[in-house]
Amino acid sequence: MFLEFIVEVAKHTMNAHERQKSHASKNHLKNQLRQVISLVFLILFLVVSFFYLNFSWNRYKRTAASEAVILAQSLESMIHPEHIMALSGNLTDLTKPEYEISKTDLMRLVKTTNPLRFAYILGQKNGDTIILVDSKPPDSTDYSPPGQIYDEIDPSYLIPFQSGQTILTEAVTDRWGTWISALTPIKDPDGQVLAVFGIDYSAAEWQARLYRQMIPDCVVVISLFLLVVLLLYVQTKKSVLKTLSDNLAYDEALYHNIFTQAPIGIALVKGGTFVVESVYGHTNINPIFEQILGRTSAELDNLSWQDITHPDDIEKDLELFARFKSGEFNQYELEKRFIRPDGSVIWTHMQISKLIGLPGRNTWHLCLIEDITAHKEAEQKLSESERSKSVLLSNLPGMAYRCLNDRNWTMQFVSDGCHALTGYLPKNLINNRDLSYNDLISPEYQDVLWQMWTETLANRSSFKYEYEIITASGEPKWVLELGEGVFNDAGDVVALEGIILDITDRKAVEEQLRYTAEHDLWTGLYNRKYLENLLNREAERPLTGRTAIIGINLNTMYLLSLTYGFGYTQTVMRTVAEALSEFCSETRMLFSSYEYRLVFYIKDYKNRDELESFCEAVARTLSPFLTAERIGGGIGVLEINDNNRHDVDRMLKNVLLTTEKSMKHDDSEVHVLFFDETMETQIDRENRINRELVQISEGINSERLYLQFQPVLDINSNKICGFESLARLNSESLGIIPPIEFIQLAEKNKLIVPLGDVIIFKALQFLKKLEANGYSTISVSVNISAIQLMRDDFSKNLIDRINRWQINPTNVGLELTESIFTSNYDEVNRVINGLRAKGIKIAIDDFGTGYSSLAREREIHADYLKIDKFFIDKLLDANQEGTITSDIISIGHKLGHCVIAEGVEHESQLQYLKEHGCDMVQGYWISRPLDEDKAIEQLNRYNQGSNC
Ligand code: C2E
Ligand code: CA
Ligand code: CA
Repeated sequence: MFLEFIVEVAKHTMNAHERQKSHASKNHLKNQLRQVISLVFLILFLVVSFFYLNFSWNRYKRTAASEAVILAQSLESMIHPEHIMALSGNLTDLTKPEYEISKTDLMRLVKTTNPLRFAYILGQKNGDTIILVDSKPPDSTDYSPPGQIYDEIDPSYLIPFQSGQTILTEAVTDRWGTWISALTPIKDPDGQVLAVFGIDYSAAEWQARLYRQMIPDCVVVISLFLLVVLLLYVQTKKSVLKTLSDNLAYDEALYHNIFTQAPIGIALVKGGTFVVESVYGHTNINPIFEQILGRTSAELDNLSWQDITHPDDIEKDLELFARFKSGEFNQYELEKRFIRPDGSVIWTHMQISKLIGLPGRNTWHLCLIEDITAHKEAEQKLSESERSKSVLLSNLPGMAYRCLNDRNWTMQFVSDGCHALTGYLPKNLINNRDLSYNDLISPEYQDVLWQMWTETLANRSSFKYEYEIITASGEPKWVLELGEGVFNDAGDVVALEGIILDITDRKAVEEQLRYTAEHDLWTGLYNRKYLENLLNREAERPLTGRTAIIGINLNTMYLLSLTYGFGYTQTVMRTVAEALSEFCSETRMLFSSYEYRLVFYIKDYKNRDELESFCEAVARTLSPFLTAERIGGGIGVLEINDNNRHDVDRMLKNVLLTTEKSMKHDDSEVHVLFFDETMETQIDRENRINRELVQISEGINSERLYLQFQPVLDINSNKICGFESLARLNSESLGIIPPIEFIQLAEKNKLIVPLGDVIIFKALQFLKKLEANGYSTISVSVNISAIQLMRDDFSKNLIDRINRWQINPTNVGLELTESIFTSNYDEVNRVINGLRAKGIKIAIDDFGTGYSSLAREREIHADYLKIDKFFIDKLLDANQEGTITSDIISIGHKLGHCVIAEGVEHESQLQYLKEHGCDMVQGYWISRPLDEDKAIEQLNRYNQGSNC
């Protein structure tokens, strides 16, 4: 800023200087012109003066001449021609009175008439000019006796003799001196020239007289001349003054503009205080100064500069100022901070210098300040950025470089990180001293890198590439290079710059992550994601040969894990995966698609038979594991075709559902099922139901799940003694769904737990309602799935609720199917015993169809046996007596159970059951399952007020 201003001012000054120069040259021209004019004027004046003086001179000369002539003529008139005629022109005349008279006259004449020096009368005798009489006394050396021949005579003296005219001669020199003579002829009465009368003036005196006459003229001329010179001088001075005043005005304007407009604060300071105004009324603090300090001149008037100097800078400033005042130096500069009225700090570059040229003000000095806050901030930022750059460079997990764009990547600069990254020192690489960077790059990447850089530079984009280098110790290292080309103005690449980072660790983690992302950690097999990607990739290609997905569902293992824990099932799954891996080949890949589910991806098989026999082989391999664990499994096969291959998600879902379908709960066989389209419709239906069940379990549309109640008739009293609650689902899109369908689904998805909770809640509500209606001994039973029963909190929750609601637990019945006992017999018994201890009644449902043979029945601790409808239907056969139904009843009784017959539709059946001592019956013959109100109505009807 300051520099800029200096440059500006310099320019300005140079311009001003230039202008001044041109101004000066113009002035110079004007001056010259003025001088020429003055000179011409002077010359003109001199010429005029010369002519004037010349004229005067001539005039005086003429006047003198005519006076001399007139004098000569008038003197001549006093001379008597008779006297002259009397003279003979020889010494004899001395004696003549005429001579005497004439002589005396002439002598008197000369004496009395100034400035005459001689008077004489010349005559002619014998062709010579002789002096007849002169004015000199005879004792004078200049005396000429009469008749003396005037042999030095100037010819002009003869003119009066010849012309009879009076003349005035030029200065003539003879032995007496230099004279100017006036000669006038003396004529006789006839007009004949007798002699010539002459008077001589001393030429010197004549001249002197003339000069004397010229004195006034000369004085006038000289005076005028002096006046003119004076005038010219004044004029010249005036124009010089004008030029000077112009210069001053210019300087003043320049100064004023600079003072008010310069981006530099200017102030005059006297000692410690600011001189706000000079004695001449000039402002001594410019607007920028006020602006920088944030204070007006008036405010500054009351302040000393120490007051507004930042405390950290005051010491230095005072020290410099003291040295400055002592005369140690004429100026000093300082970067210092001022404090503004709002407390903010402003950085300035200050220059203090002596104020030169102010008379009598030598204690004042000039203070220039420039706002360098921005510059300081930038400086700070720069140093910050320099610092962070060096921190960055020294902590870079790699190296920064600048290299040439050549095949060697000739390094021009390499940061210190080079050593840690490559094992070589920067100097080894710079200018390829010991080796080039290209030598470090793994050979398989060298060409690729060149290719990539070439493209990058052509596009002027950024370079980013991961590759391997071989370090000094021969160890391969993964690096990430990030760089850019450096171009000159012509657009040519001059260098490449960037950083090369060590990403070996990241690569290892990436590798690990990729492995984790692609593999199932239990089995080590590729996971579902990988399978999906593979199938998606395959879907892009044309279908060649036959391909299929074979799903293997072992999710029954889940039940195992409930008993033995996850670690156990994990180990089983791993062993299974290992066993199945034996089947893997180029055309058979094994994946772990979900928990407890595996998938084979089969390619290039010949026909369905081959697929079937492969599945059977798989089933055989699985068998030993499953039989040992007494669990089942399912295999589902989906053949890939052009219709289904593009929807990988759906394919996988369908194959999974096929495996589920193929599973049967009640055996440990592995069944194989091929997927077909009708299955998909079924699957779709199941999906819908599932979605609704999920919603209900979350409390949404929960009224769609409701209960009906089927009365149980006590055969002996012919009264209703209880109700079985049966769940109903009124699906939004599918209408009423039979429980056989949705309960199974809920069990599969484990939704039966929350749904079962809702069911128990509603059943107990009904029980409370019965109580409210006065039926305190009528029981309500609820069907309970294995998954529900096996939950740790099941018993506790149920008992808590019974207690809370103050329900008689003996009115609460739980119906458990036989299959419950297949999985974990002892555990089930333990739970049942706990419940029974609280008074809750347990019924074994569907008795006779399940796993629990009569053999084990004795070990099951239940209150009721519900004979399955299968055996009741049998009673309709022709040979009713041949059935085992009566045996079942009596065994039940023997074991201490109360026996209930289910599905009684005909009177004959009821009859038989009565005869064979069955305790209770349930079936359409008595009543279909009823809604709550209807059920109570029915109860009222049957029991007719009696409290059963
Ligand atoms: P279940 O426990 O054996 O229930 C008796 C089934 O027989 C009921 O079928 C009932 O309507 C039907 N039934 C009763 N008398 C007759 C008759 O005279 N003739 C014929 N043909 N059928 C008769 P529903 O309601 O369809 O229930 C089917 C099965 O769904 C039940 O068999 C039970 O295993 C299960 N279920 C029903 N509700 C629930 C429940 O809330 N929880 C659980 N876990 N399972 C339930
Ligand atoms: Ca039942
Ligand atoms: Ca049943």
